[in-house]
Order: sequence, then C-alpha cells, then structure tokens
Amino acid sequence: MIEIVQSENLVLRKIAKEVPVGLITKPKIQKVISDMIIGLNSQDDGVAIAAPQIAVSLRIFVVSGRIFDEDFIRGKGSSEKNNYNKIRNLDSVFINPVLKKISKDRKLMSEGCLSVRPIYGKVRRATRATVEAYDEHGNKFVKSASGLLAHIFQHEIDHLDGILFTDKAKEMYESNENIDSNKS
Ligand code: ZN
Repeated sequence: MIEIVQSENLVLRKIAKEVPVGLITKPKIQKVISDMIIGLNSQDDGVAIAAPQIAVSLRIFVVSGRIFDEDFIRGKGSSEKNNYNKIRNLDSVFINPVLKKISKDRKLMSEGCLSVRPIYGKVRRATRATVEAYDEHGNKFVKSASGLLAHIFQHEIDHLDGILFTDKAKEMYESNENIDSNKS
C-alpha cells in the first residue's frame, strides 16, 4: 500500500526538485510514477496527486483519467463496476510542469486535498491554464485546460512549491461525507 502523507508532514512544505530529463525513463523515476498512480487509484475520491504527497520531493504530478469519466463527473463515483466494459481514460503524468499561461479570469471553486482530509474550501484560481511538461516517456508536451482541470493544474503545481490549498482557501469546512468528491 502506498501511504499518502498528511498536512503535518514537512515534505509537503518543501520546494520539490526538478527531475533530470535523462532520468525520466530510468527505473527509479518510473517506480515513483507507478507508486503515484497506485496511491491515486487507491482513493475513490482522488482526481490528482503530486509526488510530495507520497513523500517524494520531485516535480511530478498525475491527473486521474477519472475526471473525464462521465459517471465520476455526475458524482456517481468511479468504482470498477462503473468502468466495466468501458475504455478507461488513462491517467496523465506531468513531469517538471511549468504554467505557461493562465487566464486573468478567475473563479472560486470548491477543493479538497488527499493530504488535508477532511477539509474543504473554496479557492479562487484562473479558469484557464496552459502547462508545459514532460510525459513518462521523456517527451515534452503542452496541455491547455479550463474548468476543473485548470484548477487541478494550479493545485498540483502549488504542491510542488510547498503550498497547500488551505493556505489560500475561503469558507473552509470539514466533511466526511465525500459530497464534494474531487480531491487532489
Ligand atoms: Zn492536494
């Protein structure tokens, strides 16, 4: 089992280090990526995870393919049963991500975090964002997003800079009911 560290762990407050591009395809980094994917998929309500959340201080985050799953978006969760006979959207890996563009347009959106359970709160973030990163094969790519995915990009890059959403959130509250199911 992969442990997801909680907010009192100082690894979450460190500025994570860049991954040397030549090492991306080597076993050590591939193991980190696979541990992140296992950790993320062990959480029913997880939409993304950053390496510091499994106590690895490297600039990597993974977004779950679930966020493109219509059942998940409708709040029905993402059980194996729901995904049975369906082509699963793959989890996307972002290594050494850099925010290249963010919109001036900002919106308050409800957020949670796998490392700050069971707190939720609203964070004002850009509604559109473009990230440049390397994938798990060491290829550079650029991805533009809006809405939930744009918020996730900003939440995850904050993790790599030692920032937790609770540093910025308004209207924080606790809930164990998973009503706001998106956590990253
Ligand atoms: Zn988080």
